[in-house]
Amino acid sequence: MNFEFHNPTHIIFGAGTLSKLGKVASAYGKKALLVTGGGSVKRSGVFDRAVSSLKGAGVSVIECSGVEPNPRIISVKRGAQIARADGCDVVIALGGGSTMDASKVIAAAALYDGDPWDMIGHGQENWAVPTRALPIITVPTLAATGSEMNSGAVISNDDAKVKSFVMADCLFSKVALVDPELTLTVPKDQTAYGVCDIITHVTEGYFNGIDGTPIQDRFAEGVILTAMDWGPKAVADGNDLEARTQVQWASVVALNGWVQVGTDYGFPVHMIEHALSAHHDITHGAGLAVVNPAWMRFAAKARPERFAQFARRIFGLSAANKDDLSLAMEGIDRFEEFLRSIGCPTRLSELGICDGLFARYAEDAVLVVHDENGNLPGRPPMSKADIVGVLRSAL
Ligand code: NAP
Ligand code: FE
Repeated sequence: MNFEFHNPTHIIFGAGTLSKLGKVASAYGKKALLVTGGGSVKRSGVFDRAVSSLKGAGVSVIECSGVEPNPRIISVKRGAQIARADGCDVVIALGGGSTMDASKVIAAAALYDGDPWDMIGHGQENWAVPTRALPIITVPTLAATGSEMNSGAVISNDDAKVKSFVMADCLFSKVALVDPELTLTVPKDQTAYGVCDIITHVTEGYFNGIDGTPIQDRFAEGVILTAMDWGPKAVADGNDLEARTQVQWASVVALNGWVQVGTDYGFPVHMIEHALSAHHDITHGAGLAVVNPAWMRFAAKARPERFAQFARRIFGLSAANKDDLSLAMEGIDRFEEFLRSIGCPTRLSELGICDGLFARYAEDAVLVVHDENGNLPGRPPMSKADIVGVLRSAL
């Protein structure tokens, strides 16, 4: 398909690049709101190193800590209040996707007079998609979301039990300082869930995009194969800097838009996972590991040739005496085995989720993104009954 592509984030990649934070930030102002999560960066010493780099460059630091996994809108409000009260010039996210997403919306909310929840799509009539934000610098400490180099943010509202997103050009970070050394302390389970998130960002485009996108297919396969090669090494030995580096770069590339460009892709697996996360506060990548293979088995029936291509090119399976659908299903089995091998759950029961609320999850999944028939966009589009069916198959 015809397309335009513009990604304005300046990327600084490599081990040791955290030391450049002060100099980078000083180009955007003298006072930074430094946003962090629940404490991992303090325990690892990364916080102190970031602060000393900032102070060394003449940038004063206002702290906003305690952003939770599956970040809440109340944390966004708190951060925006601090940014305004202290007159911060720039917002720096130092943490995982949750911290980065919250920081991006904090930066927009600091310049917005209404309720920040207006900016997150939740089926409202007037979605106040932000048009301006304080400059944002992202420093990811976990390889998963790609939030450092994209314009999206995913925020939860605990009261409404809704987890949803916003995408806006002003939410691209000015600079993403991607230092794989910062990911050395990520525990095994979060490392594995991150690998699943990376792969799923790419499979969403690969399976939901149009046919006839040979370069994009190869980009996607490159990211998947790299994540499958190096992900298990990073899980096995967290201190393997080479593995951490490859996985970190895969994370950036998987969702900075380049792989999906021109494919008219959908994101159904993410939309279903968000509904689960909203109600059960599960880790995003773990939820994806359950939903993605179940969704694949559903979608493969509609597009067996595309899934057979995945089986051939990712797992080297051959078509001898098999039709496309059998080959496709074999590839999906192999993918599920891979997820299990790195420690991901693949059944809802492992996440403590039973079938009581499946109809509600289906409603929630189509709340923000739906086609003219009320279906979840993708190939094939999913009715609410289809979503319930996929969830049942994942029990
Ligand atoms: P996360 O929720 O940011 O972090 C998960 C856990 O890992 C937290 O407990 C965190 O602890 C810990 N952690 C982070 N870095 C660490 C480190 N270096 N060492 C030790 N522990 C560390 O995980 P995430 O997977 O990166 O982000 C998930 C969120 O992003 C979800 O809300 C998901 O929906 C969203 N998401 C966004 C996008 C996007 O494009 N914007 C794409 C996919 C998913 P601390 O809190 O203590 O730091
Ligand atoms: Fe994701």
